[in-house]
Amino acid sequence: MTLAPAPRAARSSAELIDAEAPVLAHNYHPLPVVVASAEGAWVEDVEGRRYLDLLAGYSALNFGHRHPVLVEAAHRQLDRLTLTSRAFHHDRLAGFAEGLAALTGLDMVLPMNTGAEAVESGVKVARKWAYDVKGVPGDRATIVVAAGNFHGRTTTIVSFSTDETARAGFGPFTPGFRVVPYNDLAALEEAVDGTTAAVLLEPIQGEAGVVIPDDGYLAGVRELTRRAGCLFVADEIQSGLGRTGRTLAVDHEGVVPDVVLLGKALGGGIVPVSAVVARREVLEVLHPGEHGSTFGGNPLAAAVGSAVVELLETGEFQRRATELGAVLRDGLDALVGKGVVAFRARGLWAGVDVDPAIGTGREIGERLLREGVLVKDTHGSTIRIAPPLTITAEELQEALGALEKVLASGA
Ligand SMILES: *Cc1c(COP(=O)(O)O)cnc(C)c1O
Repeated sequence: MTLAPAPRAARSSAELIDAEAPVLAHNYHPLPVVVASAEGAWVEDVEGRRYLDLLAGYSALNFGHRHPVLVEAAHRQLDRLTLTSRAFHHDRLAGFAEGLAALTGLDMVLPMNTGAEAVESGVKVARKWAYDVKGVPGDRATIVVAAGNFHGRTTTIVSFSTDETARAGFGPFTPGFRVVPYNDLAALEEAVDGTTAAVLLEPIQGEAGVVIPDDGYLAGVRELTRRAGCLFVADEIQSGLGRTGRTLAVDHEGVVPDVVLLGKALGGGIVPVSAVVARREVLEVLHPGEHGSTFGGNPLAAAVGSAVVELLETGEFQRRATELGAVLRDGLDALVGKGVVAFRARGLWAGVDVDPAIGTGREIGERLLREGVLVKDTHGSTIRIAPPLTITAEELQEALGALEKVLASGA
């Protein structure tokens, strides 16, 4: 009989950070905090220090850490059924798909796991639609995308990224994509032709620094794609599910895309859940065997996803994002000229350009960490603020106070 090894002595944050370097790929440069537990908008590190989470897992935690309704849904499902594969039906999938279709005003759902898989699936479906429905000659379909995009990390997706760090060293790339400037309808019009399967866009570019297009752009994209006979695919993986004050960011312009890509918050911060949600005519192009996923739409994912849909059906979180967004906007307005150069905000989501003389986004993040606030930089001196939608106005004020203090302390 072998004895179980003695439990390792608990390690400090510093020891755990050091322990990662030799055994973990260095594809991230995390802030030096080691989180051990969390609840709502708060996380706690190994030493018991508490931090307000203003990143919320890049909006995967829109409902906060361990929302009781979502944790309860997961627990209940864990005790009953977790995985069948799609080789069999299971009793949670129909309800999840019905709820998600109704929530988005679309017809059919293709469940996947990660955001990148939803984008890949959207690309495949758009191409197949172009051949089967639109009549584009074989292997000639193009997809028009925007500069500054972020759609994920797979080989095909980085093929149409304009971020050299994300691309360099990963070629050869997948052909069939045209890149146009974001927020430029004339350039889009020029790029669309008879081979165009789809225009694929983020309604707000998150990783680019919460870049919000001009009013009318999304409606213009809708009108242009309808006229050109191609699909409008909206990547709402970060912008969707309550973050901007509406269920989807396209709702601000009353636009219904042909295809909506969802992920991040769809898994409630518990499991990876993503989906392609589309008009029937689009998703109907898929037949058995042409696409799939072992884990996509699994019972645990469907149970959590259904609970997420139910939370959003109440409108409470969309309302909170709007109301707290006003608090965030007022707080940031007051900091313009006091370390903040400019900011862009919609709902409870802001990209904040800090005076580069004060520090890089990374340095601001490190200083905010010492004040008990977690944020993530994007490019240069831009930080993004996207707290859980469950944060209170008081907590948000507290975080803004920390930002004011950090900016006032100067370079
Ligand atoms: C995060 C993100 C993705 C990729 O999602 P993963 O789950 O990390 O693969 C795709 N599109 C947008 C807009 C995102 O923000």
